[in-house]
Amino acid sequence: DLATRVAAGGHDEVGALAAAINDLAVELQQYRQNRRQFFADVSHELQTPMTYLEGYASALENKLYQTEEEQQHYIRIIRQETDRMSRLVQDLFELSKMEEGKIALVFEEVDIIEVAENAVMKTRMQAQQKGIDMIFRRPDTAPSVEADGARMEQIFTNLVDNAVKYTESGTITVTVSAQTDMMEITVADTGSGIPATDLPHVFDRFYRVEKSRSREFGGTGLGLAIVKQLTELQGGTIDVASEPGTGTRFTLRFPVRKEAAQ
Ligand code: ADP
Repeated sequence: DLATRVAAGGHDEVGALAAAINDLAVELQQYRQNRRQFFADVSHELQTPMTYLEGYASALENKLYQTEEEQQHYIRIIRQETDRMSRLVQDLFELSKMEEGKIALVFEEVDIIEVAENAVMKTRMQAQQKGIDMIFRRPDTAPSVEADGARMEQIFTNLVDNAVKYTESGTITVTVSAQTDMMEITVADTGSGIPATDLPHVFDRFYRVEKSRSREFGGTGLGLAIVKQLTELQGGTIDVASEPGTGTRFTLRFPVRKEAAQ
């Protein structure tokens, strides 16, 4: 509790120690607050699908449907909600492993161009179905990055997936470029954009700009939190810039392998 602040005085060792203890107390309080918030969020996130499951299961049990079509519809909702719940549990498990540093990354020489192209190819179909153009820009060659190839692909796929989800029409452009000492990857869309007040929070666990939209696509609200963790665990950085009505751009930067840079 902060009431137990140690009196800090002077510039001597005791003063420094007191300051360190006070910092720890603040950190501990922050940690407790985060923990409380986290459990509240998880309970809430699980409560919503539970409500659906209960409601539709009992509708089926009591034969509250008129047609077979309606019955199938109820079953589909139950399936969707169980899918979402298992994704949520998987994502939570993954995130907790990352935060505790218990995730095993397999570092190797990774060709960012190839990995980004894979992510683009995987999501191209979905984009086409929505009538969205997918553009991939790349240099002829690029220095390699020391990273986990599969995790790197997971990062890009997640960002391109989101771009498809939150774009109604227009273009998604994935650009790979080699800068001095680093590789830069941008994922830009012409979608709904994110209001300035929401922008600093999009990497927070469970933060969604529009809850209903995220639900519609089966989102867990954990995707960007995972993307950020994975990026930082591989020595990279991620930034976002956005304008409502115009679009969103995520920028990733990874240091290139020292040998490759020489
Ligand atoms: P979700 O599972 O809800 O998609 P994410 O963590 O991936 O969760 O993203 C968090 C929120 O950030 C989303 O709910 C959405 O509101 C917003 N968002 C993410 N990517 C985009 C994008 N490309 N354009 C607009 N909004 C986005």
